[in-house]
Amino acid sequence: MATLGPDDQTFELKQDQELRFEVENAQIEIEVTSGLAEIFGVELVKSKKYLFPIGAKGAVYTWHGCSITMKNARKNMTYVSKETPMNYYMNVHIILEKQRSEAEQQSKRGPITMIVGPQDVGKSTLCHILLNYAVRMPGLNRKPIFVDLDVGQGHVSVPGTIGALVIERPATIEDGFSQLAPIVYNYGHLTPNANLELYQHCVERLWKSVDERMNKDSKTNSSGMIINTCGWIKGDGFKCLMACAKSLRVDNILVLDQERLYNELIRELPKSYDVVLLPKSGGVVDRSRQFRAEARDKRIKEYFYGSRLKPFNPHSFDIKFGEVQIYKIGAPVLPDSCMPLGVTATEFLTKVVLVQPGPSLLHHLLALSFATTESEILEQNIVGFVCVTHVDMLRQSLSVLCLQARPLPCSKLILTDIQYMDSN
Ligand code: ATP
Repeated sequence: MATLGPDDQTFELKQDQELRFEVENAQIEIEVTSGLAEIFGVELVKSKKYLFPIGAKGAVYTWHGCSITMKNARKNMTYVSKETPMNYYMNVHIILEKQRSEAEQQSKRGPITMIVGPQDVGKSTLCHILLNYAVRMPGLNRKPIFVDLDVGQGHVSVPGTIGALVIERPATIEDGFSQLAPIVYNYGHLTPNANLELYQHCVERLWKSVDERMNKDSKTNSSGMIINTCGWIKGDGFKCLMACAKSLRVDNILVLDQERLYNELIRELPKSYDVVLLPKSGGVVDRSRQFRAEARDKRIKEYFYGSRLKPFNPHSFDIKFGEVQIYKIGAPVLPDSCMPLGVTATEFLTKVVLVQPGPSLLHHLLALSFATTESEILEQNIVGFVCVTHVDMLRQSLSVLCLQARPLPCSKLILTDIQYMDSN
């Protein structure tokens, strides 16, 4: 065990307590010195030192009691809480396990569970906990699918996308869930209301891909799905949630922290949906607009450069305007009176429009599409993203940051609203 400095602290946690931390001034190092502890469902290895950078927020929870040492605890916000909702979350896990076992025995589809609630109530955290608990079940080989519909942060790929990931093993504290073979659909905006029609279209497409993957693998099929959603729950946001629940054939809806939303869902949804109200953890931290913007940048940086433990070496190269076709999805909607005969506003919102390359592309992410023809753009999922780092109108070329070396794997690119200033 490391020797303690003046800013370090030891904590003795009793059963069902958690040590909450917000790293504000100096990175912290956490070590479990005795007992068992976990962070959002990921077990901590005894005597291993875990580093958390400035900006990290989290909690070390213990079911049975443990001792923890924390370096730089006094320079940051840390406290022990005796009030946690973990028993409620464990009960949900037990019910889901029962449903998975029944599904497995009857060769049926397992529970499809959607987590909803306002912003900053711990929706993503609860998804992580439930997924980690599912794959930690000894000898059961659970393979649930994590579906992320939260375009604001992008947990599967970059912000502006929705995606799905088969989870086969617990996340790591440093890098989260393994990102092997994700299914990603490019939506291209940071909120569903920027183009609801396109958002719903992406959700429908995602369902088709996920459904196919579940049909091919009985373990995945019986393990079911855990779905994360955005915190947009009022007005059109509520309608959007209901449409997502329908598109993704949801069985269970877990509502975090909001009785009003819970009651609205009970009232509006058919009785076949199981809607449950759960408390949020008092530890969940409200995040400012600026914090969210920084988290998005960090996510995109990680996409191109990897993490501290798994760094990537992205490539920078030029592409001539003539080598690619760049499209954008959604044309400005015309007033009804100006609409061409037989064309609806919906068709405008999902219209694929060719974009003339120019300076406005600078810093934008472009999605690399699997589509081979223009008509496939809307239907196909994507290979990945490049970021435009320079536009040279004289040489008629773009410089891009790309995970793989030249040439691009495809020639059809889709312009997104997502911007990233590459400072590496
Ligand atoms: P969004 O509105 O972006 O969808 P959310 O509802 O998904 O947010 P989370 O991302 O799960 O909320 O949680 C918000 C923040 O609170 C995260 O940084 C998370 O690490 C932190 N957090 C969650 N639970 C706890 C806890 N028990 N103790 C300390 N921090 C926590």
